[in-house]
This record gives sequence, C-alpha cells and structure tokens, in this order.
Amino acid sequence: MTKPEVTSLRRLPAVATVLATAEAAWLQERHGRVPTTEAIRQALDEAREALRAAPAAAPSAIELALRAQSLLEAHPPGLRPLFNLTGVVLHTNLGRAVLAEAAVDAAVAAMRHAVALEYDLDGGARGERDDHLRSLLCELSGAEDATVVNNNAAAVLLCLNTFALGREAVVSRGELIEIGGAFRMPDIMARAGVRMVEVGTTNRTHATDYRDALNQSTGLVLKVHTSNYRIQGFTADVGARELAAIADAAGVPLLNDLGSGSLVDLSRYGLAREPTVREAVAEGARLVTFSGDKLLGGPQAGFVVGDRALIQQINRNPLKRALRVDKLRLAAIEATLKLYRDPDRLAERLPTLRFLVRGRAEIEAQAQRLQPTVAGRLGASFAVEVGECLSQVGSGALPLDTLVSAALLIRARGSQSGLERLAAALRRLPRPIIGRVADGALYLDMRCLAEADEALFLAALAGLDTNDLAAHAP
Ligand SMILES: *Cc1c(COP(=O)(O)O)cnc(C)c1O
Repeated sequence: MTKPEVTSLRRLPAVATVLATAEAAWLQERHGRVPTTEAIRQALDEAREALRAAPAAAPSAIELALRAQSLLEAHPPGLRPLFNLTGVVLHTNLGRAVLAEAAVDAAVAAMRHAVALEYDLDGGARGERDDHLRSLLCELSGAEDATVVNNNAAAVLLCLNTFALGREAVVSRGELIEIGGAFRMPDIMARAGVRMVEVGTTNRTHATDYRDALNQSTGLVLKVHTSNYRIQGFTADVGARELAAIADAAGVPLLNDLGSGSLVDLSRYGLAREPTVREAVAEGARLVTFSGDKLLGGPQAGFVVGDRALIQQINRNPLKRALRVDKLRLAAIEATLKLYRDPDRLAERLPTLRFLVRGRAEIEAQAQRLQPTVAGRLGASFAVEVGECLSQVGSGALPLDTLVSAALLIRARGSQSGLERLAAALRRLPRPIIGRVADGALYLDMRCLAEADEALFLAALAGLDTNDLAAHAP
C-alpha cells in the first residue's frame, strides 16, 4: 500500500502544467517567462517539502500559480513612493524635493517625445543644451551667463578644476565644510587637482589673511556658505562684497558656493532668510554655485551663474561633458524655474515651499482629523494623540531654524519593542510610512502630508497587519 504523502507528491502538477494556466500566462506577461518559471519551481519545491512534512492533498496548478505570484510580487520596487512624515522637508535619503506638477509634466513629455535638446529651432542647426535655461537663470539671478551640471558638488568641482588646476585655491578654515554623503571641501579640491590654501582660523578669518595668501599661483578664491553649521561667539569673517574686491584687485575670480541658495527672499513667506543668488551675484562674486533640489525645490542639479567669459571657460572644460544633465531633468528644471517668475503664487505651486510655509494650526487640524482613524487602526496596544513637534528644512539648509508643527504621537501601551515593531511594519507597507522615533514615541509629523493625500495615507495604513504586531509580542 502506498503512503498517502507519496500519492500527494505524485499528484503535484508539472511545471509545464502550471505554466499553462491562465494565471501563469498573466504572470509571464507581467514579469517575463524566466522569472515566472523560477517562481513556479520555487512554489513546487515548497509544496513538496510541505507534503513530506505532513500528509495533505496536493495543491492544484492554479494554487501553485497564485503562490508563484506572491513570490514574484513579494518585493515591491525599491524606489516606490512613500509618505515622508519624518518632519524633514528636504530629506536627502528620501530624495529631497518633491517636484511641482509643472515639472512632472515637463519631464514626462520629454521622456515620451523627441525634444530640441541641442537643436536650434530658428536656424535648424545644432544648438546648446543649456540654452533653454540660460536666459531664465540670468533673469532670476541678475548674472550674465549660466551653466548647469549634475549637482552642486559637480558645479564646485568644475569651477575648481577650470580655474585652479595645478594652482592654488584660497579658502577660510571656518568654511571647510562636510556635507552629508561625503562631500568634503578639502577632498573635492584635491580631486579637482587644486592645492588648497587655508587661511585664518576656525572662528576668525580677516581680510589680511586672504591678501597675504594671494600670489601668482592663485587660481581661485573660495567663499563657502556654512550651510549645515554655525560658528558663534568670538568670530569674524570677510563678507562676500569685501572678498570680491580683494579677489578682483589680485585679478582672481571669487567663487561663492551658496549650497542651497534661494531664488527668492524666503522672509516674504515668513521663513528665515537664506542668502539669495541675486544678492550673491550683486555682491560681486564672479561665480556663484547652488543646488537644484534643496530650497529651490527642483530636481537634482547644480548651477553656476556669473561672468560670461568665465562661464564659457567652464563650458569648454572636457569635464563639463561628463557632468552634464539629461533632457528629463532639463525639462523639469526649466518648468521649476518658470514658477519663480511669479513669486506670489510660488507657495501654492512649489511643494517644497508649500510644505515649509504650512502653519501649525493647519497641520494640527489635519492631525486631529486623522487621529480617530489612525487610533482605531492601531488598536488598543497603542495610544495615539496629537502633539506638538518641530520640523526641519533639511539638506543642510537653515540648520538652526526649526518650524513648529504637529504630529500624530504614538506610544506603545506595552513594552517599548512594540513601538519599534510598529515603526518597522509601517516601513514595510506597500507604500511605506516613515516617521521618527524620539523620546519613546513614534512621531508622524504631518507637515509633508498634502491634504490631497490624506485618503491615500489612510488607505496605506489600512494595509497594516495589526495581528502581526500582536503575534510577535513578547
Ligand atoms: C549641499 C551643498 C553642496 C553640495 O550640493 P549637492 O547639490 O548636494 O551636490 C555644496 N556646497 C554647499 C555649501 C552645500 O550646502
């Protein structure tokens, strides 16, 4: 007599039988033949093992195809959208700026169609890729000329390499910054082929320090915005205007690296002031560099604006070709910059600014509105209340200026590990929800949840397996 598990094993469908089901045909359409076959083999291996362990009826071909589907779809795409409820508006690890609708539309159109990327439509001849942005950047900054590269790190690298290769660049010891992601000014200078000449001290640098350092070998004077830190107390530095005059007298260009920079005075929206690009140009720096995806609220990019002769020299550097920007981003940058022509409506149209200017009362009302549903979803193991919190701009911009905001403040009624499990489960959702754990609570800062996305947020939360949270409880 045959043992029942052996009979079941014999009844397991062949790979080809599973592949022939309508379900598997759909899977092949979606995921491709090879991955689908692999997943079916894996589903069969699992079934075989289960039948050896305990006698049962063999699964059908359709059941195996469905199991293959869950194996294939267990790993959602890594770059899928998520809810940034960390309270950091420009979170570098979460992709910094969320783009304006106009920028999204422009990038999509550039993906779908041929565009006049390096083509002069008037003359029907070859054009320049930066032409589309040059006049906008000049209009918004007051500079003579402009060029665009991959990011601001590339902009600084390119300027250093163009004007001080094998020569010296002078910089204050108080401005030798490190930005997250290993952008360290001394290392960038070395890689640009530039000898760094440090002047002054950490807290005090004077005009004479710069003057004494300038000589025949100087290629560039650098001023770097200390974006992500402040030196306070007994301090002195040389303002851009004075430094520009010192550099000009020596016949050397001054590069002012603004980091975030801003194309509008943020104080008109009730935010702390950052130096604007227009001011930096007016102060006399021959070159000004800034980022596309920090306060500007566009895609990753780096801009150099300044004197025409110098920008043309930069464009002739072969490195420019290696650091250039593709058509998708050029389209998105152009659409983003155009929004700056109408500063009155900028806060409605540019998500970065919209999030930054949201008032505490509005955010708190939103948190109150969502609190009952969230509390209901999380169940009795968690206490959910509305609490005050502080948001940050992020990306090193305005590091000391926090913004008063409101959060859903979640505490575990049981052990603290319950809260960590909840945070992990929220990160594992098909559309992850990312908060911030502090002082024994999980903060979901509502600043960056657009009102239009509230329903999506609640739908994402509905996918949370609260049994799962309880099941693993100690
Ligand atoms: C952020 C920053 C950079 C680097 O800009 P990315 O666009 O991130 O490459 C360079 N300099 C300063 C002062 C910065 O703040």
